[in-house]
Amino acid sequence: EDYYRIKDWGVRYFSVNEKGNLCVNPTKKQDVYVEIPLLVKKARKEYGLNLPITFNFGQIIDYSISKIVHSFEKAIKEFGGAKGYKPVYPIKVNQDALVVEQVLKGGKGFSIGIEAGSKAELCAIIEKADKNTTVICNGFKDIEYIKLIKEAANFFDEIFVVIDKFSELFLIEQVFREAERLPFIGIRCRLHTRGTGKWEMSGGDYAKFGLTAMEILKAIDFLKNKNLLDRVKLLHAHIGSQITHTVKIKEMVYEAGVLYCELKKLGVDIKYIDFGGGLAVDYDGSKSATPSSANYTITEYANNIIFHLKEVCDAKNVEVPFVLTESGRAMVAYHSFTVFNVFEYTSLFKQRDLPERYDYSKNEILLNLKETFDVINSQNLREYFHDAVHFKNRLHTLFNEGLLTLEEKAVGEVLFWNIVKKASIISRKMQDLPEELENLDSLLAVKYVSNFSIFNSIPDFWAIKQLFPVCPIERLNEIPVVNATLVDITCDSDGKIDRFVDFAKYSDTIKLHKLNDGEYLLGVFLTGAYQKTLGNIHNLFGETGEVWVSVNGENQFEFDSVSQGKSVEELLKLKGYNVDTVKERIKDRDFISSIIGKTSYLKTTGKVFAVEKQKSITLAYNVENLSCPRC
Ligand code: PLP
Repeated sequence: EDYYRIKDWGVRYFSVNEKGNLCVNPTKKQDVYVEIPLLVKKARKEYGLNLPITFNFGQIIDYSISKIVHSFEKAIKEFGGAKGYKPVYPIKVNQDALVVEQVLKGGKGFSIGIEAGSKAELCAIIEKADKNTTVICNGFKDIEYIKLIKEAANFFDEIFVVIDKFSELFLIEQVFREAERLPFIGIRCRLHTRGTGKWEMSGGDYAKFGLTAMEILKAIDFLKNKNLLDRVKLLHAHIGSQITHTVKIKEMVYEAGVLYCELKKLGVDIKYIDFGGGLAVDYDGSKSATPSSANYTITEYANNIIFHLKEVCDAKNVEVPFVLTESGRAMVAYHSFTVFNVFEYTSLFKQRDLPERYDYSKNEILLNLKETFDVINSQNLREYFHDAVHFKNRLHTLFNEGLLTLEEKAVGEVLFWNIVKKASIISRKMQDLPEELENLDSLLAVKYVSNFSIFNSIPDFWAIKQLFPVCPIERLNEIPVVNATLVDITCDSDGKIDRFVDFAKYSDTIKLHKLNDGEYLLGVFLTGAYQKTLGNIHNLFGETGEVWVSVNGENQFEFDSVSQGKSVEELLKLKGYNVDTVKERIKDRDFISSIIGKTSYLKTTGKVFAVEKQKSITLAYNVENLSCPRC
């Protein structure tokens, strides 16, 4: 059974072999794969990397780009219309130099373009891109940004300054007065259509960017007066990242398409229509319009754009333009994942904590709890569960008032969690459960303490609850029996994963395997888009060790590059500390040098700490015909 829905979110990049190991198939060819545990082994043994480790696959970037391009080419072949299609990589999605190099390499045959949203991003592009790469410059612009675009126009054959705000027009006109080679101009329109999901406010009337219809008319007048109208070659429309519903894409194409036709009629010689980003990634594999998924495929996305654009242009009798999309998320999301180890667990509920023989009658509240435990059953479940909650509250009050000993409080708490456990076992066999009793299992979830930082590796989970698939990389042929959540090693209560991929809905726990004497390694997947740059250094846990891998056969792979991650020393310097003082003040020089030379993540042997062997149960649950495979 595919407990982790790997087939759904893994879209053949990830699969499980007969040994129960998770494999990566970066080219989607069956005989080109590598078992992830082998990657971890090599990175540790041969390169001395500690967990967590991030693995990147350039071949996945190549495959993703070609999939997008081929979908558009096929749509153009089928429906006709558009003069052509060009993918554009918005560099903000992942500015890592190795990612940008790979994108430019993988997209070269498709004459890929690239998009910047700031001066720094444009500088990165100036370093990496060839002169024949189309460059689109978006974002808020000051006069310096526009001057930089003007300077870059001396190098790049085709560079666009996109007017995102009306006021930018005046700066553009000022800078262009003294330019030898003028950049091209794009106009970003403010569509009424909004996307769906977490980024829907990027479109619509209240969007941050884009010109209203009136502003577009005024801009045309202005540019005409300044003899610059002939530089306008692009119409830009972006209604938000991760558009989850296909209907919104159709609406966007209609609205931007009609606008394009109107502009053509006004004599604006637009060559490109750029539909921006929005092509969603199905992070939870549910193929639904829920926020971390999408109810359409790349093929459907391309078909919608090409078909409806042609439809609009034909109706208005205007030639169909060249189409661009800035589908950065879809190009790079799949290429990265991070492997980390679970090194400990915490649980509210350890039955063995209960004393073997205990005289409950010496205290009324304990007696009540014990009796509730003994008699709770499917007929009285709700009432007795409420009683138990009441007794637990009383337990705390009595302790705070000095009327219970610490031992009595401890025993009372363990009794309470035993009641919850028994109630949860009973509830699994019942139908029509009251809502409050539906999720008793999650109250008992064990916390698996995991050697990574969600703030660094999946900041979007922390910030906006975007889902990322999580699953073990080994033991996938064993039934997972422990209901767990994950907590990371930052000292923050929100450093945890408590929402998991579960078909079209979210589960607040994940079923994992019992920890044993060996290691327990998990991966968090589809982290290639946005996470690297948004990732922060909370608690001074910085970038993890990283490896770029190419695979060329069955477990035939090479490490193309390895980085050790952000060392303690680099992080301290970044925050303005003098590392020499640290070294001077610690006597053991070799020791301190080795600490500050590496990342701050835990250097565990990988083995789980303090795994207590499950001992026999002190309290018998006595649930009628109890045989629940999940207990
Ligand atoms: N283009 C522009 C102008 C954007 O603002 C964005 C992101 O919001 C993108 C492209 C990237 O979109 P996506 O995340 O869908 O790839």
